Amino acid sequence: MTLQALRGTTDLFGEAARRWWALERTIRRLARLSGYEEVRTPILEEAALFLRSVGETTDIVQKEMFQFEDRGGHQIVLRPEGTAPIVRAYLEHHLDKTIGLAKLFYTGPMFRAERPQAGRYRQFHQYGVEAIGSSSPWVDVEVIVLCQQMLRHCGVEPIRVWLTSMGCRDDQARSAAQLRQRLAPHRDQLCKECQARMDKNVFRVLDCKHPTCRAIAWKDLHTPFVLCQACREHFDTVRRGLTAAQVGFDDTQVFARGLDYYTRTVFEVRAEGLGAQDAVAAGGRYDHLVEELGGPSVGAVGFAAGIERILLAAHPTVADTPPSRQGVYLAIAQPGLVDQAFALVQQLRHNGVLARMDSDGKSLKAQLREADKMGCRAVAVFGEQELQQGTINVKDLERGTQHTIPLESFAAALAKELKPTCHV
Ligand code: ATP
Ligand code: MG
Repeated sequence: MTLQALRGTTDLFGEAARRWWALERTIRRLARLSGYEEVRTPILEEAALFLRSVGETTDIVQKEMFQFEDRGGHQIVLRPEGTAPIVRAYLEHHLDKTIGLAKLFYTGPMFRAERPQAGRYRQFHQYGVEAIGSSSPWVDVEVIVLCQQMLRHCGVEPIRVWLTSMGCRDDQARSAAQLRQRLAPHRDQLCKECQARMDKNVFRVLDCKHPTCRAIAWKDLHTPFVLCQACREHFDTVRRGLTAAQVGFDDTQVFARGLDYYTRTVFEVRAEGLGAQDAVAAGGRYDHLVEELGGPSVGAVGFAAGIERILLAAHPTVADTPPSRQGVYLAIAQPGLVDQAFALVQQLRHNGVLARMDSDGKSLKAQLREADKMGCRAVAVFGEQELQQGTINVKDLERGTQHTIPLESFAAALAKELKPTCHV
């Protein structure tokens, strides 16, 4: 019996792998343009990192972590999200002492034991940015603008940005008390989980996927968050900055982020055509996380985007539409010439030309068929005759033309002709 990939995980190859690569190239370029440097953290982390950051009462920690004990008895998890590891790395490498504002970005696999369905996987991939070391609302604006820009360049349009402020910790305590009071008369109608949430972390009720809970929690609610003067001003500046940057947003939707570390600005980005799993990116400010993980008291803000959902929602962009035919196939006329043919192919590759050849002694006819099937742009037949004459004939399969070039300048000439069409 052949084995299959685990449910909720996928193999990536061919066209899908190429689109993935184009997406990563796009987001890396945009991140660097805004001054964000890449950080790669390990996939394995101590479980305690997420208990202390994401929060013990959250769905991620309670139900979704892939957790195991290693041989030394340590609790290990496959990381479910990227922010906590980035903050751990920021502190471990003393970036708090060396850079004023650390602007970091990441991309890689995340793991959550969820019920697999369209747009929801157990191993999925995110990219994200984190700006650590500032409380300025202008950093919130920069991060949200970058989020929108990245999605647009990846071909995700139109999008809707939901924006709200959850206030500071004091505001959250007041808001929680009010929400609890509002929900109290309906307690029996809420699901069992929400009844527990009411006591432990009442904002989670807003997140419940149960229709009855949603209806009760959201009824006549403009916003569950009461803001102090400073938080109101912070939020006003964020809205002003986004308006100036021409990023459309909707601040009338009631939502709360499902992780404990958020304060003040939070946002979610939704894309059309994704059905129930329409959130492509989400993020916000987390002004206490650095301190809670043992660092100084500094503000921070970031977001994470789901790559699979982006690729489901994306329209084709220029970046991921490679030319129809690419590279050159060097067909070998006599089996004894493999050594020289291999050297020529290496020369082409050194010159930046995608080059292919046969290594299995196929007939010339079979090689030409293969060149066509592989989608090669050009094919050149290399044999005794070419060696003797010192020239080689190159046939352009796209245009149906052919021309002869000297063997000694073969690689350089083809590089000139074909390199702009080589997307490798
Ligand atoms: P959802 O409400 O869809 O469960 P979330 O609030 O758990 O999302 P975050 O933790 O904020 O999501 O992660 C940010 C983004 O990562 C999401 O907007 C989504 O695009 C993507 N994402 C989260 N969980 C998954 C998953 N299991 N499979 C695929 N993508 C995911
Ligand atoms: Mg989730």
